[in-house]
Amino acid sequence: MTVLNEAPVSSSSAAARHTRLLILGSGPAGLAAALYAARAELAPVVLSGTELGGQVSLTYTIENYPGFPDGVGGAELGNLFQKQAERFGAQVEFDSAYRVDLSKRPFNLVTDNGEIQTDALIIATGASPILLNIPGEKELTGKGISYCATCDGWFFKDKKVVVVGGGDTALEEGLFLTRYASSVTVIHRRDSLRAGVVLQKRALEHPKMKFIWNTVATEIVGREKVEAVRTKNVQTGEESLLPIDGVFVFIGHTPNTKMFEGQIEMENAYIKVDNRMKTSVAGVFAAGEAADPHFRQVITSAGMGAAAAIEATHFLEHETA
Ligand SMILES: Cc1cc2nc3c(=O)[nH]c(=O)nc-3n(C[C@H](O)[C@H](O)[C@H](O)COP(=O)(O)OP(=O)(O)OC[C@H]3O[C@@H](n4cnc5c(N)ncnc54)[C@H](O)[C@@H]3O)c2cc1C
Repeated sequence: MTVLNEAPVSSSSAAARHTRLLILGSGPAGLAAALYAARAELAPVVLSGTELGGQVSLTYTIENYPGFPDGVGGAELGNLFQKQAERFGAQVEFDSAYRVDLSKRPFNLVTDNGEIQTDALIIATGASPILLNIPGEKELTGKGISYCATCDGWFFKDKKVVVVGGGDTALEEGLFLTRYASSVTVIHRRDSLRAGVVLQKRALEHPKMKFIWNTVATEIVGREKVEAVRTKNVQTGEESLLPIDGVFVFIGHTPNTKMFEGQIEMENAYIKVDNRMKTSVAGVFAAGEAADPHFRQVITSAGMGAAAAIEATHFLEHETA
């Protein structure tokens, strides 16, 4: 998802339409917020962004969202979230915001389809895993390539997997994968890990974990599913082909928050919220992965979205009381 980082728009235009509550993002956080706000009769408008349903729509099955004992398709869950919110009057529009002015209310947003002014705003723009950007990655995502061990580890029972990365997340997720996989091979571009010492010790001593140092993945090979990963030693230039069932990529995560830079408090690009999802700007709330570097799950994101909508409702009621 590309968001432009431009200066705030200076003033609101007379042509801009007005909403009481605008929600940015149609992932679990945005649609849960929309459901709660719609049931509070705020008739929220949701801008879906380019990824309708959010990151869940990238995954084949979700098996850890309560209420679906047999699991549910990622795209199907997104659809159900949307249907439920729309049933109570939420309006989901296929549109993206690319500029925002939070300096005064109503807040002003410029979107692909025009300009919107809103009394309150919920930012649920999520985050995107940093991709390897190598051949085969796009084609085999969801077919053996994953960016979430908690989500997809179970599918690799007794299989051989590769983890790309060398930081805390790579090792934590790699250790998690040892519950299922027969072997977890960490491919790291340096000769030492960046992760914390305790985590390193656990990973290095784990009988199922192996390490390939000074090496990068250059291609993921497979027809219908991942079959091998091509690697290159960055010191010797030597290339190898490693037969494998799955590739987990943990080279970082970027919250989609660039357009809010300088207008709202952030920490490492994540929007700072208190335990009521309030940001540093009154009337602006944030939920889900845009504000959560830690849990990154459908259920936690949806929970934050619900909380943000409840607080936005209080905010709007209070100011019109
Ligand atoms: C492959 C994969 C598998 C996963 N599997 C699981 C699983 O099994 N279980 C689980 O709990 N979690 C899973 N996750 C994690 C889960 O999908 C995320 O935690 C969750 O989707 C985060 O929800 P969110 O609403 O915060 O953000 P996202 O889902 O990232 O949604 C962000 C939304 O914001 C929109 N947006 C972005 N920028 C703008 C803009 N400028 N204007 C308007 N809209 C914008 C996007 O289009 C998108 O709709 C998985 C993630 C991936 C990538």
